[in-house]
Amino acid sequence: MRHLLPYLQDDPKAADYLRQLRWPDGVTCPRCGSDAVELRERCDNGLQRFNCVPCAVRLGQQFAMFTDWTSSIFEESKLRPLERLLVIGLWQLKLNATEIATAADIQARTAQRCSNLLDGGLYETYHLDPSRQLENQVEANECYQSAGSKGLPREVERHNRAPRPRGLQLRGRATAETGRPPILGLVQRRDRTDPDAPAAQVYLEVLENVRTATIKPIIAAKVKSGAQFFTDEYNIYHFTAADYDHRTVNHGAGEYARHDPDGVCVHCNTMEGLWSGLRHFLDRFKGISQRFLHLRVARYEFLHNHGHLPWRQTFEATLRSIFSTTGDYLRQMAHQHRRIPLTLCYR
Ligand SMILES: [Zn+2]
Repeated sequence: MRHLLPYLQDDPKAADYLRQLRWPDGVTCPRCGSDAVELRERCDNGLQRFNCVPCAVRLGQQFAMFTDWTSSIFEESKLRPLERLLVIGLWQLKLNATEIATAADIQARTAQRCSNLLDGGLYETYHLDPSRQLENQVEANECYQSAGSKGLPREVERHNRAPRPRGLQLRGRATAETGRPPILGLVQRRDRTDPDAPAAQVYLEVLENVRTATIKPIIAAKVKSGAQFFTDEYNIYHFTAADYDHRTVNHGAGEYARHDPDGVCVHCNTMEGLWSGLRHFLDRFKGISQRFLHLRVARYEFLHNHGHLPWRQTFEATLRSIFSTTGDYLRQMAHQHRRIPLTLCYR
């Protein structure tokens, strides 16, 4: 976080740095996109005010003001720019809301809201980005994460029953309904022949269940056809043989990695390693609710995929991503009081 030190001295410096990331090519009006903007006085919290000349003319007003955060995900934030910068730095260290609150000396509720804002912003602009696809050598696997299935007190109340305990021993594969939502992991192996290749790129999706019908549209959208596709022998992946070079390792027979005659190494060990990292990360959010699980998973996905970059580049990539989000996803989620079904995200 050292590179942040010069900007953490006061609010105007923090605001200037954030503005530079939002508008690297100069400030433009968030309403009309014009760069004919005039610098005005700062707000009390250090944010810079601007007047958009074309908007003022169009509206027949003397001024049409906006600030550094107008129409961004931070617009309704009560945090000052300096606190905001600090919280994002702590967020990137994979801390939970309580830890962020303590370290940044802000209220726990505020830290919680900030974490959701950042995770939700990345979920919208990074996780749901349709142009992000995996290719070449892709491993697929699934894991099951205990998460309060009926975490919302009012839901429990509405159904007039006791909250469902976690970790019930049920027959068959776990589902979101039984309190252990499955997570589908797709990972593109790092290209070992290229020393500058980025880290293994991962895509993680929280599911309702692990039926073929659930995972088929996700795999079709995320993995380019023609890729080599490695899984275990679980039959939900059988359909992939049509579009991919599908190869399986037989865990049941004690086989975990195999060299095929054409030199291809068949295993899911990259994904297995990622699961242990994800579990370690999710352990920080004790008693995680199903409502927020996919947001935390999206943070892990983003930070893992940027893990090969220097800290500062990851920080700035986060902010660029956050500034390009509309916040629509979080607003919808707040409106529905729950996670938005996958079917809506993949329209
Ligand atoms: Zn304008």
